[in-house]
Amino acid sequence: MTAANEPSPLVLVTGASGYIAGHCIRELLEHGYRVRGTVRSLGDSRKTEHLRRMATTLGGALELVEADLTSDRGWREAVAGCTYVQHVASPFPAEVPKDEMELIRPAVDGATRVLEACAETGTVKRVVMTSSVAAVAFGHTDGQSAVRTEADWSKAENCEAYPKSKTLAERATWDFVKALPHERRFELAVINPGFVLGPLLNDDQGTSGELIRKLMMREMPACPEIGFAPVDVRDVALAHRLAMERPEAAGNRYICAGEHIWVQDIAKVLAAEFNPRGYRVPTGRLPYWLMWIIARFDKAVRLALGFVGRTELVSAAKAERELGWMMRPVRESIIDTARTMIEQGVVPAR
Ligand code: NAP
Repeated sequence: MTAANEPSPLVLVTGASGYIAGHCIRELLEHGYRVRGTVRSLGDSRKTEHLRRMATTLGGALELVEADLTSDRGWREAVAGCTYVQHVASPFPAEVPKDEMELIRPAVDGATRVLEACAETGTVKRVVMTSSVAAVAFGHTDGQSAVRTEADWSKAENCEAYPKSKTLAERATWDFVKALPHERRFELAVINPGFVLGPLLNDDQGTSGELIRKLMMREMPACPEIGFAPVDVRDVALAHRLAMERPEAAGNRYICAGEHIWVQDIAKVLAAEFNPRGYRVPTGRLPYWLMWIIARFDKAVRLALGFVGRTELVSAAKAERELGWMMRPVRESIIDTARTMIEQGVVPAR
């Protein structure tokens, strides 16, 4: 990667405490990069212990600093001396907030703060931003069965708060970079992951783990008729590194997600693996009328109501072709999510 005796490049990973960012940090440390991670508060050691342990185990150089997307404080210092930035942080709640600006403001203004700091420091060569399939495949009113590609943009005006925040933040990021004067210029690549599954690094299942946790705990009586285009968190981290390293990735967005899978099919994988060990994963189908009733007191189910019967069709062909990226089988991702939930105590061992 670098000539002998030269220090390896320093990479800033924003939102280091998060699920995807933890794997991005691991991927970078395993490949010899030095990493600086931002967290909102260094005081909360529960959110960073696993990262410090990981760095020690890997013998990697990891430093953590404080910066919040809602404040200017700390970003210039965080970016100083970095060759690359992986901007992963953005609010990803399981529920629709009362005020959509709670998500949109940190997503859009936060991205702008990170980019401003990159433009100022002069050392950053490339930023890789974590966007989402939510910025590609949502809010379309034409061709529900169309396979969406990187040429597509979600229609923000038809979207709930989260896909709207991702769409507006990614658009703002491209606009910012395009408008940069020559002397402040750096490159941008964007990763658009689907629904992320795969091993937990700590005991926080986060938003994307919540579905698997609910199934393992039988907190849902049956499976709602919703589905996603899934991807493994380890493969998302790999995509971030490839998009950072490959010269041809500059100026591109890459969808990283596989074929649509229904919740019922996820449940069947879990049931086959874990029910013989004493778990009671439900595999029946939850009728819409019952889901509608549950949604009256469960905000997460209320959010899911809008996605009943919808298939998420996206193509990762560009990432495969240009980055040489490959996704592992989804069965492995599903089982590893649940297995690590048991190991981390999120789901009790049986
Ligand atoms: P996560 O575990 O909730 O991570 C989100 C990270 O963003 C956390 O580190 C969080 O910090 C940080 N964050 C939130 N608000 C912040 C603020 N105001 N200032 C600074 N940091 C803030 O979720 P994730 O799944 O890893 O998501 C990471 C990124 O991937 C997000 O951009 C998300 O939109 C995107 N994504 C996720 C999925 C998925 O299925 N998981 C799919 C596509 C795209 P705290 O720990 O302090 O809360």
